[in-house]
Amino acid sequence: MQIVVLPGDGIGPEITDATLHVLERVKQMLSLDLTFDTRQIGLASLQSASTTFAPSVLDACRRADGIVLGPVSTAQYPSRDHGGINVSAELRIQLDLFANVRPSRTREGLAHWGRTPMDLVIVRENTEGFYADRNMHRGIGEFMPTPDLALSIRKISAFASSRIARAAFGLAATRRRHVTAVHKANVLGVSDGLFLREVRDVANTHPDVAYDEQLVDSMAALLVRDASRFDVVVTTNMFGDILSDEASELSGSLGLAASINVGDRHCMAQAQHGSAPDIEGQNKANPISLILSAAMLLDWLGRRHTDAKLTAAARVIETSVDAVLLKPSTRTIDLGGPLGTTAFTTELCKVIDACPP
Ligand code: NAD
Repeated sequence: MQIVVLPGDGIGPEITDATLHVLERVKQMLSLDLTFDTRQIGLASLQSASTTFAPSVLDACRRADGIVLGPVSTAQYPSRDHGGINVSAELRIQLDLFANVRPSRTREGLAHWGRTPMDLVIVRENTEGFYADRNMHRGIGEFMPTPDLALSIRKISAFASSRIARAAFGLAATRRRHVTAVHKANVLGVSDGLFLREVRDVANTHPDVAYDEQLVDSMAALLVRDASRFDVVVTTNMFGDILSDEASELSGSLGLAASINVGDRHCMAQAQHGSAPDIEGQNKANPISLILSAAMLLDWLGRRHTDAKLTAAARVIETSVDAVLLKPSTRTIDLGGPLGTTAFTTELCKVIDACPP
């Protein structure tokens, strides 16, 4: 199986390198049929190929069995006309990666900032909403009729709402069987009204899964007060983006925040956080988020191809990360520990090597 690896910008190359070390370790341990094809994107590609995302790299992603994408410094990119393509958005659109699956869980022995332990997954719609680059057929969903007036369009469709709801209920059936829909239908009655209509329709076909609804502002408070009450949370694009950063930080650190972007045919591992230019090149980045994202990709590949070895590899990575995090002396700097990116990766690989195959 071919995995295309896109290191990205900022801390991207450092945490991608760490992730590849871990993937090579589990590949050897479990004799996995995996090959890695690393391609240049982002600011490095802008210099060498005048674009942050060359068409040949997109083609390689289309053909691949899976993708690992490092964070990209989109805030530093020039306009699209000058080669600045947001790689993350482009892949989500081109490969129809409609579900962004973002787990957050607290870990034994590790401090968390919310008042209760948590183990939840935010299932975020990825292809429409307030995102100006993906909600119009032509042009972009943000415009300025006068120099002092700016407008944004928010697109919510029955199709996208229904399929993200089906993804959420499908996931909940494998967990604690509880879905919470997050919305703002009290002020966005038409668009979030449509979103809720579709989610409720899907809920009616899953009588075995408990269903409730929460306003997004209350949800922000409840995540701090009692995140233990949530299992699977389904929501629109921007609410999901914001709430998942909050949930991950509350669980311990944004550096723990794994995610996959998934469609019917493709899956892309991608950390929840950005390219952290403030710590770039300092060996301070926590690589766990991208490493656990890669584990989620292995798990997805394992289920898709009914390959128990890939699923086992995902479990080995997850349990090894938990084991390393148990000891304060083997934690990364963002978690109050002493280890930089490379030293943490070495510790993690030692624990993986000691796992029974
Ligand atoms: P950020 O997530 O990069 O950083 C926020 C804070 O968290 C910073 O203090 C950073 O040092 C810290 N942080 C993030 N990841 C960390 C890690 N793995 N280990 C330790 N600390 C970590 O957000 P930002 O600063 O707002 O954005 C920086 C750039 O990233 C911008 O260009 C933005 O557009 C881009 N961005 C990209 C993605 C993506 O590629 N998916 C997502 C969000 C932001």
